[in-house]
Amino acid sequence: MADRREKIFREAADTLASRRNAVALTGAGISVESGIPAFRGTQGMWEKYDPMEYATIGAFLSDPEKVWAMLSEMVDVLSRAVPNPAHSGLAEMERMGVLRSVITQNVDGLHQAAGSQRVIEFHGNAWELICLSCWNRYPSREKIREGIPPRCECGTILKPNLVLFGEPIPWSAQEEAESEAQSCSVLLVIGTSAEVSPACHIPRLSKGKGAVIVEINPEETPLTRSVTDLHLREKAGDAVTLLLSSLREIS
Ligand code: NAD
Ligand code: ZN
Repeated sequence: MADRREKIFREAADTLASRRNAVALTGAGISVESGIPAFRGTQGMWEKYDPMEYATIGAFLSDPEKVWAMLSEMVDVLSRAVPNPAHSGLAEMERMGVLRSVITQNVDGLHQAAGSQRVIEFHGNAWELICLSCWNRYPSREKIREGIPPRCECGTILKPNLVLFGEPIPWSAQEEAESEAQSCSVLLVIGTSAEVSPACHIPRLSKGKGAVIVEINPEETPLTRSVTDLHLREKAGDAVTLLLSSLREIS
């Protein structure tokens, strides 16, 4: 068993080192070890707030105050979180010239905090608020300090500039992500259940262009038996740390 694990890590590291053109696709699972609960696979605030009841654009438009009860708790959790070894390991791989970019479904800003330079935020981020009436934007932290729910100068309740269920993906993020996915030769898929569309289709785009799909997730996902070539069945922090030390040995 230990041999098999070692072999699979070595193969993943060799692939990354020889191809040197990887892109990472990350999901909520990569931030679990930073104290931010994922929707699936862990417990926490999402037991209290069903995302399908609270994290939809329909819910926000019909009752923004109710949705802000969840958002203020989420912002609180995000404010306390710091990058973990998986985030900093990806930043290091970028500095080593092994990883080209990170496409993230997360809204927590932890990849940038860890030092990643090229981050495509597929679902926006929580650190900016936007007014759906006049399109003014505000930094979240300051505005939230003024009170919940935060309001625009025009009086409208502000929405975090992240993608709620039912909202479209920002056009530029979608385009950039597709182009990165189609031109990489390794896709590192980390901590995503691959159940949220359209992000879940990204691995198939890479696979279609001949990329090797390396999946890091302690659980199996719909990708594991369809597009994944190498499944590192571990927590993100351990797996990225191990991959990085193999990469250092090789290069
Ligand atoms: P998800 O919650 O649907 O699935 C999380 C996945 O991570 C699961 O497959 C689980 O097995 C795996 N996982 C759990 N712990 C892990 C660990 N330590 N290391 C590696 N993998 C681990 O996440 P998703 O696919 O990203 O979809 C959820 C949606 O919710 C996304 O669109 C995302 O924007 C949003 N979300 C974001 C955050 C955040 O910004 N940190 C947190 C929760 C949800
Ligand atoms: Zn306004």
